[in-house]
Amino acid sequence: MARTLDPQLKRDLAERIRFYNEMGIYDFYRQETITSSDQTVPVQPETREEMPRRTAVAVIEEADMFAPIKPEARVIDPANALRVIREDIGDCTRCRLHKQGRKQIVFGVGNPNADLMFIGEAPGADEDEQGEPFVGRAGQLLNNMIKAMGLRREDVYIANIIKCRPPGNRTPERDECDTCSPFLMRQIDVIKPKVLVALGAVAAKTLLAINAPMSEFRGHWYDFRGTKLAVTYHPAFLLRDPRQKKETWKDLQMVMRELGLPMPAKGVE
Ligand code: URA
Repeated sequence: MARTLDPQLKRDLAERIRFYNEMGIYDFYRQETITSSDQTVPVQPETREEMPRRTAVAVIEEADMFAPIKPEARVIDPANALRVIREDIGDCTRCRLHKQGRKQIVFGVGNPNADLMFIGEAPGADEDEQGEPFVGRAGQLLNNMIKAMGLRREDVYIANIIKCRPPGNRTPERDECDTCSPFLMRQIDVIKPKVLVALGAVAAKTLLAINAPMSEFRGHWYDFRGTKLAVTYHPAFLLRDPRQKKETWKDLQMVMRELGLPMPAKGVE
């Protein structure tokens, strides 16, 4: 017979799970209990069956919540963990952008187990319309960049520093980035890519907290919370100055070497 939880207990449990989620912990397993007439006894490990995967609430095998998440602490079900993060964002009203014409939140798209993650700045009009990052002209060019690397769009993960379109596609304000980026951090912690690529100066400056020009950002590896991060030009910039595609290709080759991808002769078109 289905058991129903006391509503207060249910609220307390939801609160506790949210707390763990925010610490980067998403995988929980129910410890079965045997209820006798006067007491509830936890089932001993040897008699406990592992819960079927689909009933796991969601992410981590590590117990030390206060240590930085280590690269080896793999998330068991990243797709589910990403769903939890999306649910936490909800119909977000945390910053002014929710009342400045955004149609929807643009969460991120791609392979939850991706080795490579691209991070742009903010959704534009097309992204706001479709709810997916990089689907406009800049997105077409990003797709070409991914293809030139011998990958498909669905192999990588794509997200932005902020999840709502700023009015008139203006540059995101500092406080908007500060409010929104913790969700991106959680996405990165769940996906645990081998390499992050920041597209353009806004993404690079926000992630690295360094105020430098693109000429200084490019061509180096950065350590971003234990993950390798490279910086290249934003595809929207490349649409305005296609001569820089050659330079971008050098950045992408650096990434490909790191990922052990075979080196095709052709660059970004
Ligand atoms: N530019 C970005 O930075 N992100 C998008 O999703 C689209 C355009």
